[in-house]
Amino acid sequence: MINKSVLVINCGSSSLKFSVINVLKKKILLSGLSENFENKNAYIKWTFNSQKEKKNFYSKIDHKIILKYLINKILQKTLLYNNIIAVGHRIVHGGEKFTESVIITKKVIEAIKKASIFAPLHNPIQLIGISESIKILPHLKNKQVAVFDTSFHQTIPETSYLYALPIKFYEKYKIRRYGAHGTSHKYVSKMASKILNIPLDKFNCISCHLGNGSSITAIKNGKSIDTSMGLTPLEGLVMGTRCGNIDPAIIFYMFNKLNIKIDKINKILTEKSGMLGLTHITSDFRYLENNYLNDFRIKRAVDIFIHSLSKYIASYSILMENKINAIIFTGGIGENSVLIREKTIEKLKILNIFINHKLNNKIKFGKIGLINTNNSVPILVIPTNEELMIANDTFNIIIKK
Ligand code: AMP
Repeated sequence: MINKSVLVINCGSSSLKFSVINVLKKKILLSGLSENFENKNAYIKWTFNSQKEKKNFYSKIDHKIILKYLINKILQKTLLYNNIIAVGHRIVHGGEKFTESVIITKKVIEAIKKASIFAPLHNPIQLIGISESIKILPHLKNKQVAVFDTSFHQTIPETSYLYALPIKFYEKYKIRRYGAHGTSHKYVSKMASKILNIPLDKFNCISCHLGNGSSITAIKNGKSIDTSMGLTPLEGLVMGTRCGNIDPAIIFYMFNKLNIKIDKINKILTEKSGMLGLTHITSDFRYLENNYLNDFRIKRAVDIFIHSLSKYIASYSILMENKINAIIFTGGIGENSVLIREKTIEKLKILNIFINHKLNNKIKFGKIGLINTNNSVPILVIPTNEELMIANDTFNIIIKK
């Protein structure tokens, strides 16, 4: 059992991330990524035994081709093939059906299909990931587990998840807040409760996952009680290319007065807005941070991002009632951007949240640590590890079976 490992598959709309993790040894044996499916720059790269390898395809590829390459070539070559005892699949949307990770059955596949309406770019592709891995690994047909981005948020109460629309839109069409990044929020909050030595069921925190997509979650007694993403990952914080919260009437204005087609509006709000839209330059926070003082559009956009984030942290703090045990920063920006953490925390003095600049400068590039002053609510930077969480869930479910 000690050498047995889990294959983790994370299918994005035109990418695929994968890893092989030995859960008992908490060791990532193989990790890799394939990107640019739709053009001639498609590639797959992976790291095994600290050795990096890459294969270019020079043609369009798809998830099926990559899964075959991964399983039949990479897993064979690295001799990991025979150690895989289960496959964990990241699934973006589980609708209301799943409160935790589950073994994939026909019924589960049907439910994932049904939830595709809320994640049309992800769920159908993740179903391809499931069917292909069953096909290529038939001996693991009953050892496939679905881990949902939405399931951690199934504990949020009606007051947080219902929109003030005619109630039939929820009752009949299930339009409600589902949230996302659940695996990440769950992972970092568990880690934080361990680091601060507070039992998870008594642990209150505000978890900020800041990456290309950003979301923030209020966690009370270890459970999600509110989160910023909504029916889809478009709601909430200002993001890399997504607008986050806007007045819904803007959409009617674009449609009726500016004659922009509905598909184009969707593209504008999801791919052309956020930091990219505001700066007209990039959504990459490395560039934005380095040029904060050089370009007024960049400063303004970053200040808008910080304004949106600090307002959310402040509003979620009232949901904690007695005590906030921690503020957590994770995701590419949360883990690395000294500027975003500093400027956001500086706005939260009223909540007894104070930054230690020396520590803030030090904790980045994969380091874990506290970045607060002694008299402050603890502020933790924790690199997220959704793959490890998926592998853990998968392993535990398969072993319990
Ligand atoms: P993720 O989606 O979690 O991979 O995060 C991607 C975001 O993290 C991008 O906006 C990156 O620019 C940002 N990021 C990554 N590294 C850094 C860094 N060293 N400093 C600031 N932002 C970073």
